Amino acid sequence: MTRHYNFCAGPAALPTAVLEKAREELLDYQGRGLSVMEMSHRSPEFVAIAEQAEADLRELLAVPDNYRVLFLQGGASMQFAMLPYNLLGQGGTPNYLYTGIWGKKAIAEARHLAGAHVAASSEANGLTAVPRQEDIALSGDAAYLHYTSNETIGGLAFDYIPEGRLADGSEVPVVCDMSSSILSGPLDVSQFGVIYAGAQKNIGPAGLTLAIVRDDLLDRARPDTPTMFNYKVMAEHGSMYNTPPTYSWYLAGLVFQWLKHEIGGLEAMNALNERKAAKLYAAIDQSDMYSNPIAVDNRSRMNVPFVLADDRLDKAFLAESEEAGLLNLKGHRSVGGMRASLYNAVPESGVDTLVEFMADFERRRG
Ligand code: PMP
Repeated sequence: MTRHYNFCAGPAALPTAVLEKAREELLDYQGRGLSVMEMSHRSPEFVAIAEQAEADLRELLAVPDNYRVLFLQGGASMQFAMLPYNLLGQGGTPNYLYTGIWGKKAIAEARHLAGAHVAASSEANGLTAVPRQEDIALSGDAAYLHYTSNETIGGLAFDYIPEGRLADGSEVPVVCDMSSSILSGPLDVSQFGVIYAGAQKNIGPAGLTLAIVRDDLLDRARPDTPTMFNYKVMAEHGSMYNTPPTYSWYLAGLVFQWLKHEIGGLEAMNALNERKAAKLYAAIDQSDMYSNPIAVDNRSRMNVPFVLADDRLDKAFLAESEEAGLLNLKGHRSVGGMRASLYNAVPESGVDTLVEFMADFERRRG
């Protein structure tokens, strides 16, 4: 059996140790004689799995007690709609920072419901640098400020946490789509009203969506919020109002255990991610063949897009990299070029191998 290096943007690489553990427990979970997939979500066995996963996540991210952790479905895309339903019960205008394709989709979804104000945008610089705090102009009636910490397609990441400060000095909740950056390093959850993330990058397999919601925001839903969209209903039912994605939840729990025990927590994960990204960006910057357009301070550590000086070589680059066991380096269909996603489960040896391959390709074809 060979496991290649997988640079997919999502569903992304999972730690081999997690998959091995899942394999070990696949047919017979801890002597119960059945698979986790076949258990009632209300069984004591599954409830224990679910509670352990939440406890481990809370520990990893140091989630304060006044936040609820929700294990939802529908992906981050459903959060684009669920969020305005839940936070606009008292009126106001949703405010957004626009830094890329995912933020744009979130804005479009808010517009369906309530209109949206773009409080700052990276459009003028071609989505290569994030707006600074002083550029953010909230509307006077802002209900919340939403941003995307890491734009997965553009490879554009915030290097600070924006504040939702109104002209009169009051604060509105800051909401963040952290789909492609959550768990890549430590986080000060207390700066946020809501954090959400699709699971299929740093959390686990697709099918699960995480939301971390500050308690006081659970009472702000619009009256027409569908039951399954309502954070408060989900919180009151321990994320089991209906049948949750039990196996994805279990695998996420194994990933949290791996982060705690194999990696040693999010400080250690952060250092590793820093090293991995630095190696790849250094290789790009030193070469005459590869380039990345993002402002240095806003370069994503998780998703590294790059282009070849001559795009006629793209096909050969992709074919040869795949041949070398480096999978899924093709850039998003909307932007072309290449993209290497360096999520938590991509080992440093994967980055080393990629960097060697890139240098070799340049020597041969440059
Ligand atoms: N936001 C970001 C930052 C993403 O990267 C993605 C998926 N790549 C999404 C939202 C949409 O996620 P989902 O497919 O889980 O709906």
